[in-house]
Amino acid sequence: MFHDKETFKKAYLERLISMHGKGLEETTPADQYYTLGMMVREYVSRNWIATNNQYQVKDTKQVYYLSLEFLLGKLLKSYLINLNIRTVCEEGFQELGLDLEKIEAEEPDAGLGNGGLGRLAADFLDSMAALHYPGHGMGIRYRYGLFEQKIIDGYQVEIPDYWLREGNVWEVRKSDKTVEVRFGGEVITKEMGDTLSFDHVKYEPVLAVPYDMPVIGYHNKTVNSLRLWNAESAIKDYDFDHMHNRHYHQMIEYKKSTESISEFLYPDDSTFDGKRLRLKQQYFLVSASLQTILARYKRQHEDIAHMPEKIAIHTNDTHPVLAIPELMRLLMDQEGLGWEEAWDITTKTISYTNHTILSEALECWAIEVMAPLLPRIFMIIEEINERYCQKLWDQYPGEWEKIRRMAIISDGYVRMAPLAIIGCHSVNGVSALHSTILVEDLMKEFYEEEPDKFNNKTNGITHRRWLIGANPGLTNVITDVIGAGWKSSPSQLKRLISYKNDAALQQSVAKVKLENKEKLAALIWRDYGIKVDTSSIFDVHIKRIHAYKRQLLNVFHIMNLYKRVKENPDISITPRTFIFGGKAAPGYHLAKSIVKLIHTIAEVINHDPSIRDQIKVVFIRNYGVSHAESIIPAADVSEQISTASKEASGTGNMKFMMNGALTIGTLDGANIEIAQKVGDDHIFLFGLRPDEVLDYYQHGGYHARDMYNRDKRIRVILDQLMNGTFVKEDVDFKSIYYSLIDYDEYFVLKDFPSYVDAQQTVEQSYQHTASWYEKSIVNIAHSGAFSSDQTISRYAKEIWDLEPLRVQ
Ligand SMILES: *Cc1c(COP(=O)(O)O)cnc(C)c1O
Repeated sequence: MFHDKETFKKAYLERLISMHGKGLEETTPADQYYTLGMMVREYVSRNWIATNNQYQVKDTKQVYYLSLEFLLGKLLKSYLINLNIRTVCEEGFQELGLDLEKIEAEEPDAGLGNGGLGRLAADFLDSMAALHYPGHGMGIRYRYGLFEQKIIDGYQVEIPDYWLREGNVWEVRKSDKTVEVRFGGEVITKEMGDTLSFDHVKYEPVLAVPYDMPVIGYHNKTVNSLRLWNAESAIKDYDFDHMHNRHYHQMIEYKKSTESISEFLYPDDSTFDGKRLRLKQQYFLVSASLQTILARYKRQHEDIAHMPEKIAIHTNDTHPVLAIPELMRLLMDQEGLGWEEAWDITTKTISYTNHTILSEALECWAIEVMAPLLPRIFMIIEEINERYCQKLWDQYPGEWEKIRRMAIISDGYVRMAPLAIIGCHSVNGVSALHSTILVEDLMKEFYEEEPDKFNNKTNGITHRRWLIGANPGLTNVITDVIGAGWKSSPSQLKRLISYKNDAALQQSVAKVKLENKEKLAALIWRDYGIKVDTSSIFDVHIKRIHAYKRQLLNVFHIMNLYKRVKENPDISITPRTFIFGGKAAPGYHLAKSIVKLIHTIAEVINHDPSIRDQIKVVFIRNYGVSHAESIIPAADVSEQISTASKEASGTGNMKFMMNGALTIGTLDGANIEIAQKVGDDHIFLFGLRPDEVLDYYQHGGYHARDMYNRDKRIRVILDQLMNGTFVKEDVDFKSIYYSLIDYDEYFVLKDFPSYVDAQQTVEQSYQHTASWYEKSIVNIAHSGAFSSDQTISRYAKEIWDLEPLRVQ
């Protein structure tokens, strides 16, 4: 049906009518989107089945990527690109008087993630399918994704994101694959000869019903799966007949509480939120997934001991790390294995990625929360802990402190990172720096025990979405110069290096950039009524709002620049458009004040005629994947200015680089590797180095108040937060002021002078158009190294021991 334009048009019109009972003229864009989506899903169904069949027949090893977050964004466009049918659809639609881009925009973003961690999971799925890897995602089908951000009077207001309102055209409910997950109750231990058996009784059953979505490979026949679990009550209709009133109400309560498990995504990716429901979500995902994986294995294999040769299970951060005790439980209680054998299989099967060193994000659960909710799982964790501590005790007799630091259970808490490290065969960080910090600092003592477990896998991004999909103009320019080979082998982007000084290429890249800026400027005008100058520097800072990501540093630079221009009416700066976007966690007051501050300064600066439009500040509301796709191709400057050592990797940095923006950044996360690739002349580095930051944390020696006293610019800026220069109403930026002057945990004031200098360099460099675009081309050329294809092949070879399988 996608073979050629004519067949497509005919098939599409027929489907439109049969699905909606109306002719083309009466259908809405939503109808039109849904119909195309259904056709695409049908179109891939044959390959979807073939993929699964071939994995089974060839008995190939498969990986399951467990994640509490998949930040998928929209899928239609990616699918059309990967299936190589987008041109047919576009042309067919044109003749029908339809606009494909508009129809693609109808799809709601699947916002089942907070930020980088969730987007990484989505990019990884895309790469696994593109590279023919047998790999699937497993997650939760949250009815509400990450909240929708509204701005009222400059304040963030959160609205529930009911992304499923119009249904999800990509999902297929598989009721027959439902499994039961058990919460609460008691464990009865029975002696049977010389073995023990464990009966879980009086538990509350919850049904996990799978919804599968296809994950479509790029120009190949692979269609992997993303399985999202929906929580449902296990009440059979007939149960109600036997209930008198009191029980009936209990039933309703039970139904509500079970369904709440897949109701909301927790809207915080950087602080550990000790909610019981969150723990329920984690176990729900893990138990449903592992039961399914084990049952699949057993359908084909007799000997459970060989499971690690056929199955790899990856846990994205510690959120799904209950996979370790859950697999132990299944192997022992259900399969009848002994501890040692079960432990051997478990550790060989499971691997784990750490995503952060922020201490507030290291998960731990109070025993009084976990033990009653997951009694058998808690018993197993206790046993893992006891055995491990015993081993340590034999090795380090008397070193109580060391053992306490390394124990899984201590001070009344179950600590998930130690559980992950002890119970799996691979622990990886997500950039060279981050992995080094793990082994030298956060996980040092574990590293000394088992150094071979630890490795680095620098994050990556899919160039199919972030370049081919998001930036067709640049895609064509690149292809004109080096051919199309880079689309399937992104490392070929390096061939651009030899053209970096080619004036024609520089001009083409500049022209595309301008077109993308014009598109974004139009959007900004439409949605915000702000006129931005497309010859100004588009300086972009989009990511979650968090103190460590230092939106404040950027804001202070703007305040400083504004003051300079205002006080010197004759100076001309290179005009700048500062673009922000990002959500603050609803309970994170400082981050929400930062959102308000950005709006406050924007209001003043955008309406001050005396600065002659040389500075504009725009806050793009409700930042998500789709916004990223339209903003990043239009960026000249990429703000990657986290406090060194705090951003584990970053992936936003890679998306900008791939779209030819130049980075202003700290030596943090993957910025370091970007700098190594492009060379120091092609990136604007500033600020404290990670070792300096870590040294300050350890030994002290930094006093923020000195910065305030010594640097007049800082004094003015901080005073302006309090004295009403920007603040017309009764707004309170005291919390920002005191967070800096009292402690400045993230070295905002410390790095300010060096940041201002680096921004000065940016401005001067932008004047030299040819050399600016030379830099831009060098960045694009090296970005292939950050394709998630590279990352995934390393996971496959070095962690999962996974071979690709070409679906025929
Ligand atoms: C890439 C991406 C992120 C991660 O950005 P960082 O700059 O690495 O924090 C967050 N949200 C969305 C929507 C993204 O696309």
